Amino acid sequence: MTHKALRIIPSVKSEDWREILSDLLTDPEELLNILRLDISKKPPSLSALTQFPLKVPRPFIDAMEPGNWSDPLLLQVWPSKEEEMTPSSFSTDPLQEYKFNPVAGLLHKYQARVLLTAAPHCAVHCRYCFRRHFDYQSNTPSRKDWGDTLEYIKNDQTIKEVILSGGDPLGISDRQLLWLIRELESIDHLDILRIHSRIPIVLPQRITPELITIFDQTRFDVVMVVHCNHSQEISENVKNALMTIQRSSVTLLNQSVILAGINDDTKILKELSHTLFSHGVLPYYIHLPDKVAGTAHFSVKTDKAIQIIDSLKKELPGYLVPSLVQEKPGESSKTRLV
Ligand code: SF4
Repeated sequence: MTHKALRIIPSVKSEDWREILSDLLTDPEELLNILRLDISKKPPSLSALTQFPLKVPRPFIDAMEPGNWSDPLLLQVWPSKEEEMTPSSFSTDPLQEYKFNPVAGLLHKYQARVLLTAAPHCAVHCRYCFRRHFDYQSNTPSRKDWGDTLEYIKNDQTIKEVILSGGDPLGISDRQLLWLIRELESIDHLDILRIHSRIPIVLPQRITPELITIFDQTRFDVVMVVHCNHSQEISENVKNALMTIQRSSVTLLNQSVILAGINDDTKILKELSHTLFSHGVLPYYIHLPDKVAGTAHFSVKTDKAIQIIDSLKKELPGYLVPSLVQEKPGESSKTRLV
Protein backbone atom coordinates (compact mmCIF):
# COMPACT_ATOMS: atom_id res chain seq x y z
CA MET A 1 0.00 0.00 0.00
CA THR A 2 1.44 3.39 -0.86
CA HIS A 3 1.57 6.19 1.66
CA LYS A 4 -0.90 8.17 -0.47
CA ALA A 5 -3.47 5.42 0.10
CA LEU A 6 -2.98 5.73 3.87
CA ARG A 7 -3.66 9.45 3.97
CA ILE A 8 -6.93 10.50 5.58
CA ILE A 9 -6.28 14.07 6.66
CA PRO A 10 -5.55 16.47 3.82
CA SER A 11 -3.02 18.93 5.24
CA VAL A 12 -2.77 21.52 2.45
CA LYS A 13 -5.97 23.45 1.96
CA SER A 14 -4.68 26.43 0.03
CA GLU A 15 -2.39 26.95 -2.93
CA ASP A 16 -1.64 30.58 -2.01
CA TRP A 17 1.89 30.61 -0.62
CA ARG A 18 1.15 33.45 1.83
CA GLU A 19 -1.71 31.48 3.36
CA ILE A 20 0.42 28.34 3.58
CA LEU A 21 3.20 30.36 5.20
CA SER A 22 0.82 31.78 7.77
CA ASP A 23 -0.51 28.29 8.56
CA LEU A 24 2.74 26.46 9.35
CA LEU A 25 2.39 23.44 11.58
CA THR A 26 3.97 24.09 14.98
CA ASP A 27 2.32 21.48 17.22
CA PRO A 28 4.24 18.16 17.47
CA GLU A 29 1.07 16.26 18.33
CA GLU A 30 -0.75 17.57 15.26
CA LEU A 31 2.15 16.52 13.06
CA LEU A 32 2.11 13.01 14.46
CA ASN A 33 -1.67 12.77 14.16
CA ILE A 34 -1.39 13.57 10.46
CA LEU A 35 1.33 10.94 10.13
CA ARG A 36 -0.57 8.38 12.27
CA LEU A 37 2.29 8.09 14.72
CA ASP A 38 1.99 7.66 18.47
CA ILE A 39 3.63 10.55 20.35
CA SER A 40 4.23 8.35 23.43
CA LYS A 41 6.66 6.21 21.40
CA LYS A 42 8.99 9.13 20.76
CA PRO A 43 8.04 12.24 22.72
CA PRO A 44 9.60 15.48 21.54
CA SER A 45 12.29 17.23 23.56
CA LEU A 46 10.69 20.17 25.34
CA SER A 47 14.01 21.97 25.77
CA ALA A 48 14.73 21.56 22.03
CA LEU A 49 11.27 22.89 21.21
CA THR A 50 11.83 25.91 23.43
CA GLN A 51 15.20 26.70 21.89
CA PHE A 52 14.13 26.06 18.27
CA PRO A 53 10.37 25.55 17.85
CA LEU A 54 8.83 23.07 15.48
CA LYS A 55 7.89 24.66 12.17
CA VAL A 56 6.81 22.68 9.12
CA PRO A 57 4.95 23.83 6.00
CA ARG A 58 2.05 21.56 5.17
CA PRO A 59 3.21 20.78 1.59
CA PHE A 60 6.38 19.28 3.12
CA ILE A 61 4.26 17.10 5.43
CA ASP A 62 2.37 15.84 2.39
CA ALA A 63 5.63 14.39 1.09
CA MET A 64 6.17 12.37 4.31
CA GLU A 65 5.22 8.73 4.64
CA PRO A 66 2.55 8.13 7.30
CA GLY A 67 3.35 5.49 9.89
CA ASN A 68 7.10 5.76 9.41
CA TRP A 69 9.21 7.14 12.27
CA SER A 70 12.27 6.79 10.01
CA ASP A 71 10.83 8.93 7.24
CA PRO A 72 13.77 11.04 6.00
CA LEU A 73 11.67 14.21 5.90
CA LEU A 74 10.20 13.71 9.35
CA LEU A 75 13.67 13.10 10.82
CA GLN A 76 14.79 16.50 9.52
CA VAL A 77 12.09 18.36 11.45
CA TRP A 78 11.36 16.23 14.52
CA PRO A 79 12.69 17.76 17.80
CA SER A 80 14.00 14.50 19.23
CA LYS A 81 15.45 13.93 22.68
CA GLU A 82 18.82 13.40 21.00
CA GLU A 83 19.05 17.18 20.66
CA GLU A 84 19.64 17.34 24.40
CA MET A 85 23.11 15.79 24.12
CA THR A 86 25.79 18.29 23.19
CA PRO A 87 29.36 16.94 23.04
CA SER A 88 31.99 19.47 24.14
CA SER A 89 33.19 20.05 20.56
CA PHE A 90 29.73 21.40 19.63
CA SER A 91 28.75 25.03 20.25
CA THR A 92 26.06 27.57 19.41
CA ASP A 93 28.24 29.35 16.80
CA PRO A 94 30.91 26.93 15.55
CA LEU A 95 31.58 29.13 12.50
CA GLN A 96 32.12 32.19 14.70
CA GLU A 97 29.88 34.21 12.40
CA TYR A 98 29.67 37.03 14.95
CA LYS A 99 33.26 37.93 13.93
CA PHE A 100 32.15 38.59 10.34
CA ASN A 101 29.09 40.69 11.11
CA PRO A 102 30.31 44.32 10.67
CA VAL A 103 26.81 45.80 10.24
CA ALA A 104 23.33 44.53 11.00
CA GLY A 105 22.05 42.06 8.42
CA LEU A 106 25.41 41.48 6.69
CA LEU A 107 28.05 38.78 6.98
CA HIS A 108 31.34 39.36 5.18
CA LYS A 109 33.20 36.07 5.40
CA TYR A 110 34.48 35.54 1.88
CA GLN A 111 36.28 37.70 -0.65
CA ALA A 112 34.19 39.49 -3.30
CA ARG A 113 30.86 38.48 -1.80
CA VAL A 114 28.69 39.33 1.16
CA LEU A 115 25.70 37.57 2.64
CA LEU A 116 22.59 39.48 3.67
CA THR A 117 20.17 38.01 6.19
CA ALA A 118 17.23 39.22 4.16
CA ALA A 119 14.65 37.44 6.30
CA PRO A 120 14.64 36.66 10.01
CA HIS A 121 12.64 33.48 9.64
CA CYS A 122 12.36 30.28 7.65
CA ALA A 123 9.36 28.37 6.38
CA VAL A 124 10.73 25.24 8.02
CA HIS A 125 12.94 24.59 11.00
CA CYS A 126 15.54 22.04 9.94
CA ARG A 127 16.81 20.52 13.17
CA TYR A 128 20.41 20.33 11.86
CA CYS A 129 20.46 24.05 10.96
CA PHE A 130 23.80 25.74 11.56
CA ARG A 131 21.99 29.01 12.26
CA ARG A 132 19.52 27.63 14.80
CA HIS A 133 21.14 29.81 17.48
CA PHE A 134 21.79 32.82 15.21
CA ASP A 135 20.86 36.23 16.60
CA TYR A 136 18.27 37.18 13.99
CA GLN A 137 16.82 39.87 16.23
CA SER A 138 19.97 41.99 15.92
CA ASN A 139 20.43 41.04 12.29
CA THR A 140 17.13 41.93 10.73
CA PRO A 141 17.30 45.53 9.62
CA SER A 142 14.04 47.27 8.88
CA ARG A 143 13.89 49.09 5.55
CA LYS A 144 14.97 52.23 7.40
CA ASP A 145 18.01 50.48 8.91
CA TRP A 146 19.21 48.89 5.67
CA GLY A 147 21.04 52.18 4.98
CA ASP A 148 24.19 51.16 6.90
CA THR A 149 24.21 47.73 5.31
CA LEU A 150 23.91 49.11 1.78
CA GLU A 151 26.50 51.78 2.57
CA TYR A 152 28.95 49.07 3.64
CA ILE A 153 28.56 47.37 0.26
CA LYS A 154 28.83 50.69 -1.63
CA ASN A 155 32.10 51.45 0.13
CA ASP A 156 33.80 48.18 -0.80
CA GLN A 157 34.40 47.98 -4.55
CA THR A 158 35.79 44.45 -4.21
CA ILE A 159 32.29 43.10 -3.51
CA LYS A 160 30.81 41.70 -6.73
CA GLU A 161 28.17 39.34 -5.45
CA VAL A 162 25.41 39.59 -2.88
CA ILE A 163 23.96 36.41 -1.40
CA LEU A 164 20.46 36.70 -0.02
CA SER A 165 20.13 34.21 2.78
CA GLY A 166 18.39 34.17 6.10
CA GLY A 167 16.36 32.78 7.42
CA ASP A 168 14.90 32.23 4.01
CA PRO A 169 14.96 35.20 1.62
CA LEU A 170 11.96 33.89 -0.32
CA GLY A 171 9.92 34.15 2.88
CA ILE A 172 9.60 37.92 2.39
CA SER A 173 7.02 39.49 0.11
CA ASP A 174 7.65 40.28 -3.55
CA ARG A 175 7.40 43.95 -2.66
CA GLN A 176 10.16 43.73 -0.03
CA LEU A 177 12.32 41.59 -2.28
CA LEU A 178 11.93 43.96 -5.21
CA TRP A 179 12.81 46.93 -3.02
CA LEU A 180 15.99 45.26 -1.83
CA ILE A 181 17.01 44.19 -5.34
CA ARG A 182 16.43 47.72 -6.67
CA GLU A 183 18.64 49.15 -3.90
CA LEU A 184 21.38 46.64 -4.72
CA GLU A 185 21.07 47.31 -8.45
CA SER A 186 21.99 50.93 -7.78
CA ILE A 187 25.45 49.79 -6.60
CA ASP A 188 27.45 49.67 -9.82
CA HIS A 189 30.16 47.23 -8.77
CA LEU A 190 27.66 44.44 -8.00
CA ASP A 191 27.13 41.89 -10.79
CA ILE A 192 25.67 38.77 -9.27
CA LEU A 193 22.69 38.13 -7.03
CA ARG A 194 22.60 34.75 -5.38
CA ILE A 195 19.55 33.42 -3.53
CA HIS A 196 19.95 30.61 -1.02
CA SER A 197 16.55 29.13 -0.29
CA ARG A 198 14.86 25.98 0.95
CA ILE A 199 11.43 27.39 0.11
CA PRO A 200 11.21 26.00 -3.47
CA ILE A 201 11.49 22.55 -1.84
CA VAL A 202 9.30 22.94 1.24
CA LEU A 203 6.79 25.51 -0.06
CA PRO A 204 6.94 25.30 -3.87
CA GLN A 205 3.78 27.40 -4.22
CA ARG A 206 6.09 30.40 -3.57
CA ILE A 207 7.48 30.10 -7.11
CA THR A 208 4.93 32.33 -8.78
CA PRO A 209 5.06 34.06 -12.19
CA GLU A 210 5.41 37.38 -10.31
CA LEU A 211 8.53 36.15 -8.50
CA ILE A 212 10.08 34.85 -11.71
CA THR A 213 9.42 38.21 -13.37
CA ILE A 214 11.44 39.93 -10.63
CA PHE A 215 14.42 37.70 -11.40
CA ASP A 216 14.00 37.96 -15.16
CA GLN A 217 13.89 41.75 -15.04
CA THR A 218 16.84 42.51 -12.78
CA ARG A 219 20.14 43.56 -14.34
CA PHE A 220 21.93 41.00 -12.17
CA ASP A 221 22.96 37.52 -13.17
CA VAL A 222 20.80 35.52 -10.77
CA VAL A 223 21.87 32.23 -9.24
CA MET A 224 19.46 30.29 -7.07
CA VAL A 225 20.85 27.62 -4.78
CA VAL A 226 17.98 25.51 -3.49
CA HIS A 227 18.44 23.20 -0.53
CA CYS A 228 17.25 19.64 -1.02
CA ASN A 229 18.57 16.65 0.92
CA HIS A 230 16.54 13.70 -0.34
CA SER A 231 14.68 12.87 -3.56
CA GLN A 232 11.51 12.21 -1.55
CA GLU A 233 11.35 15.98 -1.01
CA ILE A 234 10.79 16.46 -4.74
CA SER A 235 7.01 16.20 -5.02
CA GLU A 236 5.03 17.01 -8.16
CA ASN A 237 4.61 20.62 -6.97
CA VAL A 238 8.35 20.87 -6.31
CA LYS A 239 9.10 19.47 -9.79
CA ASN A 240 6.86 22.12 -11.33
CA ALA A 241 8.49 24.87 -9.27
CA LEU A 242 12.00 23.75 -10.25
CA MET A 243 11.07 23.53 -13.92
CA THR A 244 9.57 27.03 -13.74
CA ILE A 245 12.79 28.44 -12.29
CA GLN A 246 14.87 26.47 -14.75
CA ARG A 247 12.95 27.97 -17.71
CA SER A 248 13.70 31.50 -16.47
CA SER A 249 17.00 33.37 -16.66
CA VAL A 250 18.04 31.99 -13.27
CA THR A 251 20.96 29.54 -12.93
CA LEU A 252 19.68 26.75 -10.70
CA LEU A 253 21.90 24.74 -8.34
CA ASN A 254 21.34 22.56 -5.28
CA GLN A 255 23.13 22.24 -2.00
CA SER A 256 22.54 19.46 0.50
CA VAL A 257 23.75 18.58 3.94
CA ILE A 258 24.91 15.02 4.52
CA LEU A 259 22.89 13.80 7.49
CA ALA A 260 23.23 10.57 9.47
CA GLY A 261 20.30 8.23 8.93
CA ILE A 262 18.77 10.48 6.29
CA ASN A 263 21.01 10.64 3.21
CA ASP A 264 24.45 9.31 4.22
CA ASP A 265 24.19 6.62 1.59
CA THR A 266 25.48 6.37 -1.99
CA LYS A 267 22.21 5.05 -3.43
CA ILE A 268 20.14 7.84 -1.84
CA LEU A 269 22.48 10.60 -3.03
CA LYS A 270 22.72 9.06 -6.50
CA GLU A 271 18.96 9.12 -6.79
CA LEU A 272 18.90 12.71 -5.52
CA SER A 273 21.39 13.83 -8.18
CA HIS A 274 19.41 12.11 -10.95
CA THR A 275 16.07 13.52 -9.77
CA LEU A 276 17.47 17.04 -9.43
CA PHE A 277 19.08 16.91 -12.86
CA SER A 278 15.93 15.66 -14.54
CA HIS A 279 14.23 18.82 -13.24
CA GLY A 280 16.90 21.25 -14.32
CA VAL A 281 19.02 21.45 -11.16
CA LEU A 282 22.75 20.75 -10.91
CA PRO A 283 24.09 19.31 -7.64
CA TYR A 284 26.59 21.88 -6.37
CA TYR A 285 27.65 21.31 -2.78
CA ILE A 286 27.08 18.74 -0.12
CA HIS A 287 28.05 20.07 3.31
CA LEU A 288 29.36 18.18 6.26
CA PRO A 289 27.08 19.35 9.08
CA ASP A 290 28.59 22.04 11.30
CA LYS A 291 29.18 21.24 14.96
CA VAL A 292 26.15 23.11 16.23
CA ALA A 293 24.78 22.43 19.70
CA GLY A 294 21.75 20.14 19.46
CA THR A 295 22.68 18.56 16.13
CA ALA A 296 25.31 15.94 17.08
CA HIS A 297 23.01 13.05 16.14
CA PHE A 298 23.10 14.19 12.48
CA SER A 299 26.91 14.05 12.29
CA VAL A 300 28.58 11.96 9.62
CA LYS A 301 32.26 11.12 9.95
CA THR A 302 34.44 12.85 7.35
CA ASP A 303 35.92 9.53 6.15
CA LYS A 304 32.48 8.08 5.56
CA ALA A 305 31.33 11.17 3.64
CA ILE A 306 34.47 11.06 1.46
CA GLN A 307 33.88 7.36 0.72
CA ILE A 308 30.30 8.09 -0.35
CA ILE A 309 31.40 10.86 -2.70
CA ASP A 310 34.15 8.60 -4.11
CA SER A 311 31.49 5.97 -4.82
CA LEU A 312 29.30 8.60 -6.49
CA LYS A 313 32.24 9.55 -8.71
CA LYS A 314 32.44 5.96 -9.94
CA GLU A 315 28.74 5.74 -10.64
CA LEU A 316 27.83 9.19 -11.98
CA PRO A 317 29.13 11.64 -14.58
CA GLY A 318 31.18 14.42 -12.95
CA TYR A 319 28.46 17.06 -13.36
CA LEU A 320 26.14 15.03 -11.12
CA VAL A 321 28.62 14.70 -8.25
CA PRO A 322 28.37 17.51 -5.69
CA SER A 323 31.56 18.79 -4.05
CA LEU A 324 31.88 17.73 -0.43
CA VAL A 325 32.58 20.89 1.54
CA GLN A 326 33.03 22.02 5.08
CA GLU A 327 32.97 25.51 6.53
CA LYS A 328 35.88 26.35 8.77
CA PRO A 329 35.91 29.59 10.77
CA GLY A 330 38.33 32.14 9.37
CA GLU A 331 38.85 30.42 5.98
CA SER A 332 38.42 32.66 2.92
CA SER A 333 36.10 30.14 1.25
CA LYS A 334 34.46 26.82 1.95
CA THR A 335 36.96 23.97 2.25
CA ARG A 336 36.51 21.34 -0.47
CA LEU A 337 37.16 17.88 0.93
CA VAL A 338 36.63 16.03 -2.36
S1 SF4 B 1 15.78 26.58 5.79
FE1 SF4 B 1 18.02 26.80 5.98
S2 SF4 B 1 18.33 28.49 7.42
FE2 SF4 B 1 16.20 27.76 7.64
S3 SF4 B 1 16.22 26.24 9.27
FE3 SF4 B 1 16.46 25.13 7.34
S4 SF4 B 1 18.70 24.97 7.09
FE4 SF4 B 1 18.32 26.58 8.60
